[in-house]
Amino acid sequence: MAFDYDLFVIGGGSGGVRAARIASAEGGAKVGLAEESRMGGTCVIRGCVPKKLMVFASGYPAAMAEAQEYGWNVSNAGFDWPRFRNRLAAELTRLETAYRTTLTKAGVTIHDTRVVVVDPHTVELAGGQRLTAKHILIATGGRPFVPDIPGAELAVTSNEIFDLTELPKRALVVGGGYIASEFACILHGLGVAVTQYYRGAQILRGFDDEARGLVANAMQDRGIAIHCGTDVMRLEKSSDGIVVPATDGSSRGFDLVLYATGRRPNSTGLGLEALGVGFGRSGQIVVDDYSQTAVPSIFAVGDVTDRINLTPVAIREGHAFADTVFRGIPTRADHNLVASAVFTQPELGSVGLTEEAAREAGPIDVYVTTFRPMRTAFAGYPDRVMMKLVVDTANRRVLGCHIVGPDAGEMIQLAAIAIKMGATKDDFDRTVAVHPTMAEELVTMRKPTRTG
Ligand code: NDP
Repeated sequence: MAFDYDLFVIGGGSGGVRAARIASAEGGAKVGLAEESRMGGTCVIRGCVPKKLMVFASGYPAAMAEAQEYGWNVSNAGFDWPRFRNRLAAELTRLETAYRTTLTKAGVTIHDTRVVVVDPHTVELAGGQRLTAKHILIATGGRPFVPDIPGAELAVTSNEIFDLTELPKRALVVGGGYIASEFACILHGLGVAVTQYYRGAQILRGFDDEARGLVANAMQDRGIAIHCGTDVMRLEKSSDGIVVPATDGSSRGFDLVLYATGRRPNSTGLGLEALGVGFGRSGQIVVDDYSQTAVPSIFAVGDVTDRINLTPVAIREGHAFADTVFRGIPTRADHNLVASAVFTQPELGSVGLTEEAAREAGPIDVYVTTFRPMRTAFAGYPDRVMMKLVVDTANRRVLGCHIVGPDAGEMIQLAAIAIKMGATKDDFDRTVAVHPTMAEELVTMRKPTRTG
């Protein structure tokens, strides 16, 4: 049977775009791709990219204050949110255009529309046109989840945060994960009075306990009011903005409430249920190691499969799919030892096992140092950096590395290479320090801080 396409990709985000490009440009496949919103997906349009630019924007007041301690005469005349927001919007448009150009140059046909899957080889565009494909790739990502509380419609999510007409004076951030903690710091850096409610005992659950504690303390020291063990009961509109009765008995008023309570896969309404594609408990599409669903012609990559919800992972999954199906190179996406960074102030970079998880598995040696880094110590600030190596006592392998401090995201990327290669603590020790840096502490920790 002759198909219209060899591959039809649903979703123009990180995973879908990579799969489409490799299948077409390197696999020689005829590829169509549908995107109902803006090309680039969550990462480019309403996630990593605008977030990181906001992290940069929010860092300047602290940098200006620090510059004064270094002898500069600096005056902070305030932040012009509309000016920054318009530049941000222009940058995203530029990136979106670049994505389109790359795909088109690779020979991919773009359909700017929503599609549904009507059978294992057919998709239907919003206008009713049907197209057939030998393979279909679902790369529809995820969306913010807001719990069903009274007044939930008064809250914004990370989807809306980049388009605010004005910055609030008082913001409540709900949640304790990546997005909540990053935006608590961003908004605080931009001059907003920030309160953060988290239902559990400590923010950033899943990360190394000592690292989370240090980040939380530093956020509080900078002036973010973190309330753990606290959740929202309802949101009410009032003359004092949005009033929020909470489980700790308080009732505070805010100008903005940002919900960052997780994300859910965009898996429903695509017609997949009727075809026999399997779904997991959070609605994720169930796939095997090669990203194949229970329907052999339908594959899925990225956040819609809820494996590790990070852009570079989606890209790897999309690439591995294209290699497997269109280049004759069977490739599993490798989900082991994936490093990540939380762009809080201070940053947290992490790869491998936390101290707590490693201890469950067997005897470990923990090497940890906390210190005041040269740059901020000179300026008289109390900020502390943490470097931690979690080492297997039996074979000296480094099982995990956790860094809290400026540029921790940059440092963890490099540490991750060594750890992925199976480096032992002795390999770290054999490496001569780069001086004076913060990262040199990673190769100069001689004695374990804790064993067992
Ligand atoms: P996370 O899963 O990281 O965090 C969700 C938070 O919301 C948790 O603190 C969770 O609490 C809390 N929560 C969940 N449900 C409720 C509820 N019903 N009521 C109150 N609180 C609730 O999700 P995010 O939205 O922050 O981010 C989504 C994903 O995006 C991340 O997992 C990450 O993979 C990715 N991401 C990565 C970034 C990076 O690499 N820097 C940046 C941003 C996002 P509890 O801990 O108790 O479950």
